[in-house]
Amino acid sequence: MSALAKNYNRRKIAFKKGKGSFVYSTKGIKYLDFVQGIAVNSLGHSNPYLAKAINKQSKKLWHVSNAFIIPEGERLAKRLAQKTFADYVIFQNSGAEATEAAIKAARRYFYSIGKPKKNRILCISNSFHGRTLAAIFASGSKKMTEGFGPKVPGFDHFKFGDHEGMEKAITKNTAAIMVETAMGESGIKVIPNWCLQGLRKLCNKKKILLILDEVQCGIGRSGKFFAFEHAKIKPDIVPIAKGIGGGFPIGAVLMNKKVASAMTPGSHGSTFGGNPLAMAVGNAVLDQIFKKDFLRNVQKTSTYFISELNNIKDEYPNIIKEVRGIGLLIGLQLYTDQNKFINKLDKNKLLTMRAGENVVRILPPLNVKRQEIDLAINIIRKVCDQLSNE
Ligand SMILES: *Cc1c(COP(=O)(O)O)cnc(C)c1O
Repeated sequence: MSALAKNYNRRKIAFKKGKGSFVYSTKGIKYLDFVQGIAVNSLGHSNPYLAKAINKQSKKLWHVSNAFIIPEGERLAKRLAQKTFADYVIFQNSGAEATEAAIKAARRYFYSIGKPKKNRILCISNSFHGRTLAAIFASGSKKMTEGFGPKVPGFDHFKFGDHEGMEKAITKNTAAIMVETAMGESGIKVIPNWCLQGLRKLCNKKKILLILDEVQCGIGRSGKFFAFEHAKIKPDIVPIAKGIGGGFPIGAVLMNKKVASAMTPGSHGSTFGGNPLAMAVGNAVLDQIFKKDFLRNVQKTSTYFISELNNIKDEYPNIIKEVRGIGLLIGLQLYTDQNKFINKLDKNKLLTMRAGENVVRILPPLNVKRQEIDLAINIIRKVCDQLSNE
């Protein structure tokens, strides 16, 4: 009997090793892994370059307190700042911590300019920002908050796509709007560029902050370093995690100068966040993602994959309702039950992940090979064929 609590609905597969896009089960079965730890292993399993970086750092220095200067973290922060809208970075260990730090930074900013009552955060209902107390109440999801009251105050909600509702929900106490640039858990719903541009304008007009949660869609997943770059806008605060560690737990909140000025010494901290081992891995991930043509390849692979998936959709219009996504954050919205579909994909040795709205989420590593995409396409077509003959 397992001594692990039953808070996860685990599939009955365990793995012993992984290499690139593939994982091998304890039973010796080789799977094409298009979950990749939910968009975490951005460079695939056991990436040799990352393995070398972590191995090298592990022999030098693992952890020191943030009471001291950490050169590896200085370097990673500077590289993130140089490549993005951000001026300053605080490192964390996970996505939820990063989104909480984003909320703290927004509130602290208004506090620092003498407007402490501007502290409410406006979010999309049924979004996802992590599983800590504040993050679940930020999500506005009944399922995630059930039994975890009392409700953490300070969050307001509007429905995805309801522009009027959003504007109406902004009050004099609103500090920020926080949304995922592309919603992952809730069903791969990408906020269109014109909406992001409108959101930026609205936040400027109302003098509130724009927080874009890029924990899942950031770090190259969308085909640009950040998904909001497609809309050519600049947010004020961006939490990141998942892909930046390539499988090692790293989170961070990126901020512009204005916001970061409120995060004075002692205002926020983390014991583990930004330790030398994590920072060495983060720098190694950036070495790969910042390579010339890396992101262009993500875009090319995405265009090919999405067009092939649309072909399958056209062949099986009673099974696939819609192909959604951006870059290599892809979803198939189904008419058929998602669990049944995922189960059949598992049996055909392609691992995928469920998301909201009956969507099957497909998350290859960013350096996936064309023939691995072709393999996935064949399996997905085969499963559609099986289901259409049932
Ligand atoms: C995964 C995720 C989080 C939470 O990250 P954890 O590391 O699980 O805490 C937050 N926001 C978004 C958009 C995510 O996809």
